[in-house]
Amino acid sequence: MVTIGTPFSPTAKKVVLCGSGELGKEFTIELQRYGVEVIALDKYPNAPAMQVADRSYVLPMLDGKQLREIIEKEKPDYIVPEIEAIATATLVELEKEGYHVIPTAKAVSLTMNREGIRRLAAEELGIQTSNYRFAATEEEFKAAIQEIGIPCVVKPIMSSSGHGQSTIRKPEQIAQAWQEAQHGGRAGGGKVIVEGFVDFDYEITLLTVRHSLGTSFLEPVGHIQIDGDYRESWQPQAMAPAALQKAQEIAQKVTDALGGRGIFGVELFIKGDEVIFSEVSPRPHDTGMVTMISQDLSQFALHARAVLGLPIPNIAFHGPSASRAIVVEGNSTKVAFGNVDEALLEPNTQIRLFGKPEVSGHRRMAVVLARAESTDAARAKTLRATNKLTISL
Ligand code: AMP
Repeated sequence: MVTIGTPFSPTAKKVVLCGSGELGKEFTIELQRYGVEVIALDKYPNAPAMQVADRSYVLPMLDGKQLREIIEKEKPDYIVPEIEAIATATLVELEKEGYHVIPTAKAVSLTMNREGIRRLAAEELGIQTSNYRFAATEEEFKAAIQEIGIPCVVKPIMSSSGHGQSTIRKPEQIAQAWQEAQHGGRAGGGKVIVEGFVDFDYEITLLTVRHSLGTSFLEPVGHIQIDGDYRESWQPQAMAPAALQKAQEIAQKVTDALGGRGIFGVELFIKGDEVIFSEVSPRPHDTGMVTMISQDLSQFALHARAVLGLPIPNIAFHGPSASRAIVVEGNSTKVAFGNVDEALLEPNTQIRLFGKPEVSGHRRMAVVLARAESTDAARAKTLRATNKLTISL
């Protein structure tokens, strides 16, 4: 029996959210619909999810001591990571002490680091991946490239959103790729993964939700990445039935191994009927923002439902849809979006402005969503809407 009480009372169901970006913001809103009390954490004040949460704390997310202090004070029913770079060792301890980490502390630890999840998928589960080698020094790096061959993709093992990632297409780029990986990663340099370049036809995120009734798959999400960062996604990605079946089998295997409840974004490369596993996030996925317009229950609503131990008997799909990230370039603490009214004139169009307090360099600040008769038409619609928007810094 699942019981949900009253916020700010002894019966409250409490969630501590580790990471307060745009994905956490939508997830918080979904939890609020159930009257869950949400406490949002991030390294800077006024982060998007903090703007809708009941309370928030600012702390370096890799600081296990501060994280533990907050958890012991708040005593949440669930600890839900929204980002990768968290003090995972502390989450492992807290889980042992009886706290409920979503989906599991093991899943969060393994996926924080590209090495953990790659070895689990390729070496333990026998799932097809790109060829790969790990390298901790420049010597090892050069040897790894010799073995893997060119072209290859280099990524810090502790990184996401394309930070420190590069593709080597000719030998002259080797030294530069090492430098980029050393400066672009989360942990300030260190080990990298060298992956054989996969010449895929297309790539997908197979959103997979583990809930009280079992495992459900969402329609596959196709997407385009620029410099390792997502710019556009659409749903459903058309797939040959054999490839879709293989993709679901891989997603089932990987998510079963990680365990727990919640949504997972399983990233796969598709070439013909071949499906190659890339990585998995045990949380909502940025490319999955398209589900805010394509489904009655978005990935955030599904995550909330799964986390709370509620069943998901069906996922109603509304039709072909697309999302387009609005990446703002420049330096400002007062970004303003103009012509929002013009951008929303076409039917079945939506926009989310994340309310991020600052941009310095480039930052995803909003997303445009559209539904249409085909994914191509939906993508064209998000482009038209985006072109109407003006951005002032
Ligand atoms: P990741 O951070 O690992 O998700 O990588 C970001 C993006 O880079 C992916 O979504 C792909 O578009 C591209 N990419 C990553 N690894 C490879 C690879 N081994 N071969 C080709 N493209 C890749």
